[in-house]
Amino acid sequence: MKIGTPKEVFDGENRVAMTPDSAKQLQKLGYACAIESGAGAGAGFSDAVYEEAGVEVIKTAAALWKEVDIIAKVRQPNETELKRLSSDKTLISFFNPAGNEAGMDAAKAKGANVIAMEMVPRISRAQKMDALSSMANIAGYRAVIEAGNNFGRFFTGQVTAAGKVPPAKVLIVGAGVAGLAAIGTSTSLGAITYAFDVRPEVAEQVESMGAEFVYLDFEEEQQDGAATGGYASVQSDEFREAQLAKFRELAPEVDIVITTALIPNREAPELWTKDMVEAMKPGSVIVDLAAEKGGNCKLTVMDEKIVTDNGVTIIGYTDFPSRMAAQSSSLYATNIRHMMADLTPEKDGQINHDMEDDVIRGATVTFEGEITFPPPPPKVQ
Ligand code: NAD
Repeated sequence: MKIGTPKEVFDGENRVAMTPDSAKQLQKLGYACAIESGAGAGAGFSDAVYEEAGVEVIKTAAALWKEVDIIAKVRQPNETELKRLSSDKTLISFFNPAGNEAGMDAAKAKGANVIAMEMVPRISRAQKMDALSSMANIAGYRAVIEAGNNFGRFFTGQVTAAGKVPPAKVLIVGAGVAGLAAIGTSTSLGAITYAFDVRPEVAEQVESMGAEFVYLDFEEEQQDGAATGGYASVQSDEFREAQLAKFRELAPEVDIVITTALIPNREAPELWTKDMVEAMKPGSVIVDLAAEKGGNCKLTVMDEKIVTDNGVTIIGYTDFPSRMAAQSSSLYATNIRHMMADLTPEKDGQINHDMEDDVIRGATVTFEGEITFPPPPPKVQ
């Protein structure tokens, strides 16, 4: 079978789902590989480098979609791409099955099999295919770099002949995958880093990375994340008040705030209010990684950078992985080729779409003309 990757059509998307390295691995599984000419350009991979890796370069998207059996891409397909699906094709891509009714219906009507990368179950065995985590890791790292780029001072403290410089103070709200990456980046740059999460079990991880966990003055225990499969749920009003009171205390102190707080299938909780922004020092920076889900900061504008009247920069970009396209393409392409390895147990270049396999079943959202989303819960953890 042939696996192919078209150039991403979403405006400003620089990532690519197949790299020359991942193509070599896919060939070892028995597949022929193809890309649309220019597909890797935004991530720094020229057609010539793909050709050296044994990849066929096809001139147009239409020809590529027609010729290949398996399409690997990054962004959920648009209308034109959906029309190119057929019952003999498998698509592996982010697909947003819960919010993409038209795409689900189109894939069903075409009889195509669709594997949605955001649906890979978060169990240990599937970590190597977990594209949400690999992209969140990059977003967390890049959020700190972006903050630094907009912050007119050092992260680390210095004593120089020209004067003493205090270290920056950084607060990370939410210590999931992106938050932990942000904490690691911030501490390695030398900032005093604080982190808060509603799940108290992450305190140890936060502290082991050299940051200080922010505890609340609250009688009830912070939520037990283990009871919710590691995800946060909505907090009580009292808890929220205690959280906001703590943030109000911290707002005039911190130079950089990176918010990453999300609750599955909900709008992002609003945690950094207008008065907190107003209490921050001029020159401070907020990076809101929850911008796509409505934002954790009241004043965030999605996909924009704004500067408030009191001189606080608020960044609501939603394309952090694409801003590091070489790195994110390498990691995403690796996630995809691990998925392909699980789909090709015989390494014979033929897909064995085993719906008894927890990971494959979990990620498959349409199969043989049926919608198979949402999946049953995985049998093993
Ligand atoms: P996420 O993106 O859903 O949320 C980010 C963080 O925001 C979470 O840590 C959450 O607790 C926190 N949050 C929510 N509401 C908040 C609030 N009001 N205040 C402060 N923080 C708040 O999370 P994620 O990064 O996808 O990770 C979720 C869980 O999944 C974690 O426990 C993580 O360790 C786990 N995980 C497991 C695997 C695996 O086993 N393969 C892979 C990835 C993640």
